[in-house]
Formats: sequence, C-alpha cells, structure tokens
Amino acid sequence: MTATHHDHDPNCIFCKIIAGQIPSRKVYEDDDIFAFHDIQPWAPVHFLLVPKKHIVSMAHLTAEDAPLMGKLMALVPRLAQEQGCNPYPEGGFRVVINTGAEGGQEVHHLHVHVIGGPRPWKKG
Ligand code: ADP
Repeated sequence: MTATHHDHDPNCIFCKIIAGQIPSRKVYEDDDIFAFHDIQPWAPVHFLLVPKKHIVSMAHLTAEDAPLMGKLMALVPRLAQEQGCNPYPEGGFRVVINTGAEGGQEVHHLHVHVIGGPRPWKKG
C-alpha cells in the first residue's frame, strides 16, 4: 500500500509521530503500520498500533480497509509477547479501540490500545 498525500493529516499528532516529527518510543513499523509506547501507560505494557494511513476512527472503516486492519490485528499477539505480556491464558492482554466522543476517543487517528502485564492496572 503506497501512502499518498490524502493519507496524511498535517494537524494530526499520530501522523506527526509516524512521520518522525514528534518523538515516540517505537515498537514496530512496516509500510502500512506503526506501533509505539503510550505516553501515559495504564499498565506495565501499553502500546498503540496505528495504520499509517490517516483513518479518523473505527467508525470510518470501509470494506477496503479490511486487509489493512486484518494485518494490524494479526500483529497484536506477536507484539504483545515481544513487549512482555505473559502467555495466554494466565497472562494475555487487553485490546481497546475507543471510537468517538462517547467511546472515549481523544486522538482522532484510529489506534488500537494493547494493554497487559501483571495486575493491578490503573484503569480496570
Ligand atoms: P484516551 O486518552 O481516553 O485513551 P484515546 O483512545 O484517543 O483516548 O487514546 C489516545 C492515547 O494516546 C492515550 O492513551 C494517550 O496517552 C496517547 N498519547 C497521546 N499523545 C501521545 C504521544 N505523543 N505519544 C504516545 N502516546 C500518546
């Protein structure tokens, strides 16, 4: 998938992180996907997986995005393990996609929270 100027929002904080204009602690990167540690972690492991393409929210996904989102979700177990989540079933991880104001979304670039590690956690 080749990024075009339509895929980048110059005012978006996550687009700036993907472009390296704002520093982040990178977890993973390929042509389509970027992952980085959350700046305010809720748990010992907390990173965000984002499509490089500027998709505003999960509410904006279309059938065309299915391969991208499938690839993104299929990366979760590997990255969760690499970042220190303990194995299933005693360990595991939580995956959260906040969508819209009532869904608790604050940054309007689709992102998947991956949260894990020994409890208790700050949130839940
Ligand atoms: P919420 O803040 O309620 O979790 P979101 O689901 O929109 O809402 O999540 C945005 C996440 O992005 C937050 O967990 C926040 O800590 C994280 N975040 C914001 N700015 C940065 C940044 N510069 N680097 C890393 N993570 C960031």
